[in-house]
Amino acid sequence: MQAKQYVEKVYEDLLKRNEGQVEFHQAAKEVFNSLISVFEKHPEYVENGILERIVEPERQLMFRVPWTDDKGNVQVNRGFRVQFNSAIGPYKGGLRFHPSVNLSIIKFLGFEQIFKNSLTGLPIGGGKGGSDFDPKGKSDREIMRFCQSFMTELSKYIGQDMDVPAGDIGVGGREIGYMYGQYKRLKTSYEGVLTGKGLTYGGSLVRTEATGYGLVYFVDEMLKGKGKNFEGKTVVVSGAGNVAIYAIEKVHQLGGKVITCSDSNGYIYDENGINLDTLKKIKEVERKRLTEYVKYHPQAKYTEGKGVWSIPCDIALPCATQNEINEEDAKTLVKNGVIAVGEGANMPSTLEAIDVFLNNKVLFGPAKAANAGGVAVSALEMSQNSMRYSWTFEEVDAKLKNIMKNIYENSVKAAKKYGFEDNYVVGANIAGFIKVAEAMMAQGIV
Ligand code: NDP
Repeated sequence: MQAKQYVEKVYEDLLKRNEGQVEFHQAAKEVFNSLISVFEKHPEYVENGILERIVEPERQLMFRVPWTDDKGNVQVNRGFRVQFNSAIGPYKGGLRFHPSVNLSIIKFLGFEQIFKNSLTGLPIGGGKGGSDFDPKGKSDREIMRFCQSFMTELSKYIGQDMDVPAGDIGVGGREIGYMYGQYKRLKTSYEGVLTGKGLTYGGSLVRTEATGYGLVYFVDEMLKGKGKNFEGKTVVVSGAGNVAIYAIEKVHQLGGKVITCSDSNGYIYDENGINLDTLKKIKEVERKRLTEYVKYHPQAKYTEGKGVWSIPCDIALPCATQNEINEEDAKTLVKNGVIAVGEGANMPSTLEAIDVFLNNKVLFGPAKAANAGGVAVSALEMSQNSMRYSWTFEEVDAKLKNIMKNIYENSVKAAKKYGFEDNYVVGANIAGFIKVAEAMMAQGIV
């Protein structure tokens, strides 16, 4: 069978076996489209069913998470952990707490994670988890009780050498702390079972900043490849969470100006550049909505709803959530002269939007390459925990920068080798895939 037909057949089977899981279909399709040329060169991957095996998670867990709210009412949420692929290391990937979470979303994130983790060059497999729990408006004690109940079940299936979760949307330092405490209590073991931990109990310096900083390091490499840089560039960012905040910080350090940020209700436009002290105070300390920003900076404008992509910019960094840039948004960005797009969020651009960017020669950094800095520093946190040692901020930051540079170079190299020059989507997919495929080949049909 021709490589193209083979890939189409596996995709058709995937659609049948995973009915209705539209986000998972989308993530798989993006990777599949990139791999046809790989299967042409490597028939042994076809013979060994690498693609059929890689799209089937090794293990999928769904469980009840009961907890009591502050009024004494019983609440029930659903917990997930998808252990997708452990060919190159223990499962690794974040936990997302958001009401939209379902099996399709966790599977798309887990699938992406396999290739992202491979691209980092570090020994980590792919997994993802979370819950449809909504942390918004919950008291600190409610968050704690939820996290304890969630971990009570999850603890049976994870471990420092088996599966090491981290944070994602709705899961930051506070949630990781509560889950770590419960794990330790249940297992009586002080081990690096989670990453993103606080600095007083085994966390790594730079983990908080890693995804946002790494994203900007990656985009900087893309710009440098074309003789450009961030100096004097106008940048539009979506989101106002962990990834967005530290992407903004690094852009400002490199001489660019970020003029927007957003949450799920609306966005801020500040022509003076987003004030980071204010943003951190509102989001990290007070945990309030973005409407607060204009109270401190009356010259800024708050607009309800979406629309951040209609603001003219040189560089766009989507850092909120999946499918936040559609075809129309992409066309608007191109019309307004965008030169580079770096995906901080996972799968923020639809497949149609990606085509618009690539067809218009926009430098496009796909999520699995551009936002891999978070999981890379998580893996460095695992190393430090194993050594019972901590590196300095400068040491970890230098390692992060180097990892992002390698990811860029490996993506460029793979794209060129297979005839897709300047297409970092194909390059990242191929570079990430080949390492995992080789490990799977070596380990037999398991
Ligand atoms: P946070 O929870 O810290 O922040 C998420 C931000 O995105 C918030 O501003 C949130 O607004 C907004 N947002 C979330 N969902 C939606 C939605 N449906 N529509 C519009 N806005 C939304 O999460 P992170 O910053 O950690 O994660 C952001 C993205 O980056 C996700 O795609 C995540 O998977 C990805 N990522 C994160 C990594 C990490 O290390 N944290 C690593 C790699 C990728 P609101 O407060 O209103 O919900």
